Amino acid sequence: MSEEISEACGIFGAISKSDMDVFPLLYWGLLSLNHRGQQSYGFTTLKRGTFHKKEDLNLVPTDPREVGKLSSALRGSVGIANARYATSGGRRTKHLQGGKQPLVVSAGKKRIAVSYNGNIVNASRLRSDLTREFGKFKTDADTEVLARQLLLALEENSGDYQRAIGNVLDVVEGAYSAMVLDSDGSLHAFRDVHGIRPYCFGTKKGAYAFASETPALDINGFYQQDYVHPGELVSVDSKGNFERTKVRKQRDAICAFEFAYFSRPDSILNGTKKPVYKIREQFAKALAKTYRSTLRNADLIISMPETADDAAYGLHEATGLPWERAVRKNRYVTRRAFISRSNERDSVIDKKVNIVPSLVKGKRLAVIEDSIVRGDTSKINIAKLHGGGAKSVDLFVTYPRITDPCLYGVDMATYGELLGSKMSEREMASWLGTRSVNFQTINGLVESIGISQERLCLGCVTGRYPTPTAQELADSIKRNYGRSRKESKARIYESTTNQGT
Ligand code: SF4
Repeated sequence: MSEEISEACGIFGAISKSDMDVFPLLYWGLLSLNHRGQQSYGFTTLKRGTFHKKEDLNLVPTDPREVGKLSSALRGSVGIANARYATSGGRRTKHLQGGKQPLVVSAGKKRIAVSYNGNIVNASRLRSDLTREFGKFKTDADTEVLARQLLLALEENSGDYQRAIGNVLDVVEGAYSAMVLDSDGSLHAFRDVHGIRPYCFGTKKGAYAFASETPALDINGFYQQDYVHPGELVSVDSKGNFERTKVRKQRDAICAFEFAYFSRPDSILNGTKKPVYKIREQFAKALAKTYRSTLRNADLIISMPETADDAAYGLHEATGLPWERAVRKNRYVTRRAFISRSNERDSVIDKKVNIVPSLVKGKRLAVIEDSIVRGDTSKINIAKLHGGGAKSVDLFVTYPRITDPCLYGVDMATYGELLGSKMSEREMASWLGTRSVNFQTINGLVESIGISQERLCLGCVTGRYPTPTAQELADSIKRNYGRSRKESKARIYESTTNQGT
């Protein structure tokens, strides 16, 4: 999509059988996942029962001197890492500092480091319960809720991970692909009962690695791969003994948006056996079938870079229309490069993308986008295409119309910010300056992914969520928002009216 929507986190962890330091694996693994979170990064390794931690705000560093310092400080043959985007807690620097992962917590003799990707829907209530048990929390991030809930469960189950994770899966609602490094040297990976966020692992000569996405395994040579199943616990102890346990089972519900936007094109999610970029090509082929007559009136396909490039290729293959990459992003223009006052946002967007007027002049354009969330960036880019002399623009969107917020870790957590919740397709076309807006159908999406509708989360396009508290929150906000049109600006799982839900 031309706008940038953020995701909760990327996680990576590894244990090597030998005494070799694990840091190089962690570093390349986390760097491969930096697209999933850019607000902070962190590494925690373990050597002879002592945790070594390094973390900071912003991207995983690439300066050789900084990487060298990390490498010297992070000793040990087992470790976990995290690249974070905050979908819970405050957005100010002090909150981001506090929310960096992995988070180390302890109770009595038990000491664990936790790294996770996702969002906990019932965090407010759990936080109150756990505060009674452990006292005041150190951070406002829901990582601490997950970590302390696990500590409590370990205490109640005499340190038995299978029983403790069973307890966590029963009480913590939401999306979480999590990994735990225990100070006894064991590594544990577990995933919520619906498996909403991706999670995979690989093995190589007695070593194991766990990651949000398969490219982080590929880059480290872990080609023997599988995925962590929903409700599953995968553990490796300090001696390298590997164990998989199906702890709980409910319906699978992997996030459909991962396939359209978040995941890397070279990822293979949940054992789909085909890389995400092939699925994106398929999305465009489904659009070509649905909107055959509209596409007959186009001269040229243009992709809104860069996540729609694979779809543009698919549309080109399906229709025979030429495809030109006439819209180019300047990767050095980032929001971080500016003092991001809200009135500067539009000018940043405007300078981020350049078009090649000679390619679009006088042409009827079929513009392909992967999704529309707020729509402001698309509007600016479409105006540029008109400014470059395009005769007309029809917009094709590979993901269905987003009508409802995400409660599971994608940064679109209010109704008010969603263009698709406020406008019909016709209204959108007029607001965006296009002749038409043509969204993927739910069927087209599901068939292209190749996983049945019952095994996907489609909450943001159907308003039907896989977990009960999420459904209650969304229904209650929708009822109130429908009446008053005055929605709280807070994320719906954090808004004051929902505290204690
Ligand atoms: S609501 Fe949408 S973005 Fe959120 S997990 Fe479900 S499919 Fe993904």
